[in-house]
Amino acid sequence: MSIKILQGDITKLNVDAIVNAANRSLLGGGGVDGCIHRAAGKELLAECRTLGGCPTGEAKVTGGYKLPCRYVIHTVGPVWSGGDRDEEKLLTSCYENSLVLAAEKGCSTVAFPLISAGVYGYPKDDAFRVAYDTIGRFLEEKGSDMEVSIVIFDRADYEKYKSIYG
Ligand code: ADP
Repeated sequence: MSIKILQGDITKLNVDAIVNAANRSLLGGGGVDGCIHRAAGKELLAECRTLGGCPTGEAKVTGGYKLPCRYVIHTVGPVWSGGDRDEEKLLTSCYENSLVLAAEKGCSTVAFPLISAGVYGYPKDDAFRVAYDTIGRFLEEKGSDMEVSIVIFDRADYEKYKSIYG
């Protein structure tokens, strides 16, 4: 089982699939979503327009276009509203559904940003724990040898999670 913790910009990674923290429209936004659309080019938005959006907790896949990755898996994290609106369950589903799609596409390397931990306000340490635990459980249960990275944008956060989990 292989989970890596990386620091940097997810759009630069040479992996089979990167995961996007999208919104339900799938038509682009700020944060990592904006970075991914800018780096992929307008063909990504054109494909996203054909998908009819995506419910919270679910995931849809597109091509990577100008990105170095082959696929972008778009998942919609929950907006944090105190923790009693199924946020943890929905965030868990984001990771699980994204990994199911990655496996279906035959990906052996996948990278996730910290879904919901930016504009959507999920407390970062909890968001990291959900990511780490869910990915670990998925790989173990499926006996998968997929190599999954969690990409932390902020260097101080990266140092913290690396020292706790690395
Ligand atoms: P959400 O709306 O799901 O909260 P955001 O894009 O606002 O999504 O933030 C999710 C996480 O992605 C945050 O931790 C943010 O720091 C991080 N992030 C932003 N840009 C990038 C990038 N280019 N690569 C990796 N992570 C990024």
